Amino acid sequence: MTKAWSILPEEWKGILAERGLRPFRADQILQALYRDYIDDWDKATTLPKDFRETLKKEFPLTACRELETSKSADGTQKLLLGFEDGQSVETVLIPATGRFTQCISTQVGCAMGCAFCASGSKGVVRSLTSDEIVAEYMAGRRHGEITNIVVMGMGEPFNNYDETIRALKLINAGKGPNLGARHITISTCGVVPGFKRLAAEGIQFELSVSLHAPNDKLRSELMPVNRRWPIDELLAACAEYTKATKRIITFEYTVIKGVNDSRACAEELARQVKRVPMAKVNLIPLSPVEHRPDFETPDDQTLLMFLDVLMKNRVQTMLRRSRGKDANAACGQLRLRHLG
Ligand code: SAH
Repeated sequence: MTKAWSILPEEWKGILAERGLRPFRADQILQALYRDYIDDWDKATTLPKDFRETLKKEFPLTACRELETSKSADGTQKLLLGFEDGQSVETVLIPATGRFTQCISTQVGCAMGCAFCASGSKGVVRSLTSDEIVAEYMAGRRHGEITNIVVMGMGEPFNNYDETIRALKLINAGKGPNLGARHITISTCGVVPGFKRLAAEGIQFELSVSLHAPNDKLRSELMPVNRRWPIDELLAACAEYTKATKRIITFEYTVIKGVNDSRACAEELARQVKRVPMAKVNLIPLSPVEHRPDFETPDDQTLLMFLDVLMKNRVQTMLRRSRGKDANAACGQLRLRHLG
């Protein structure tokens, strides 16, 4: 038994042939899956009934139930999705002019334990399989045509590299959902071995790196991953990635009041990111999380000062506003409900 949503479009013919099934059915299967977006083989009415029964048994569609939906005043929607073993993840749908972005999760929980992030506050339960990640996308797609994906939900994608990349390749495939690679952003907290692997894929996914601090002392306090791969190693991997792929890296910097928001931090940050050619910075004001009441959002004046220092140092910087706050759907707020 192989889950249908784990099979890349180009693999179908061979997989059918291997099982003594007729390979010419592959195109019909792909149309049912990725043109009609069926969620049940019985809806693939172009296929004969007995073949649908075979598909149900041999290539089941991954069960992914929408357990809960919450909508925030700004139109952001958060879906709680339940899988067969009772585990669940959250995905967030973010409408904007001309865009409909889905923020997807790659693991149930997260092992990285960043201090300011709710998803990691209870550790990792398990990684999602590629078909579960695709099922998550399918659940989002039922709410509208997805134009962009950001892999910024629960989990560290480079800790679940194979399954995440397989799912993204499938979503990107021309005979699949056909979402352009440049519309798919992978975000990592800095798991260095992932950079080389991603560069070798030769696919133009966008890459974001969560930096959040300009020096090892502060970064190691906020992000335990920094003790394994400190800033020098991380930035060297980023520079190498940019050189190999000619792709720009965006550094995410969550600004936390009184922690990493000083002028000195901004100046040091500018010096650091300039070690990576063409790099950009996204400043994200912290979304408060329950488990760290001492972490607060900086005021606008501080954010503008921080932005100004980076711009004066000729670092291309964007100040982002977190969306979906009132639905607990903002950055770092995704967490397991059933663990409470
Ligand atoms: N593990 C990956 C992807 C998930 S987190 C990563 O670390 O990049 C997606 C982004 O949200 C990261 O930049 C993360 O640092 C940020 N984030 C986490 N908690 C946050 C919070 N409370 N406020 C603002 N951003 C947060």
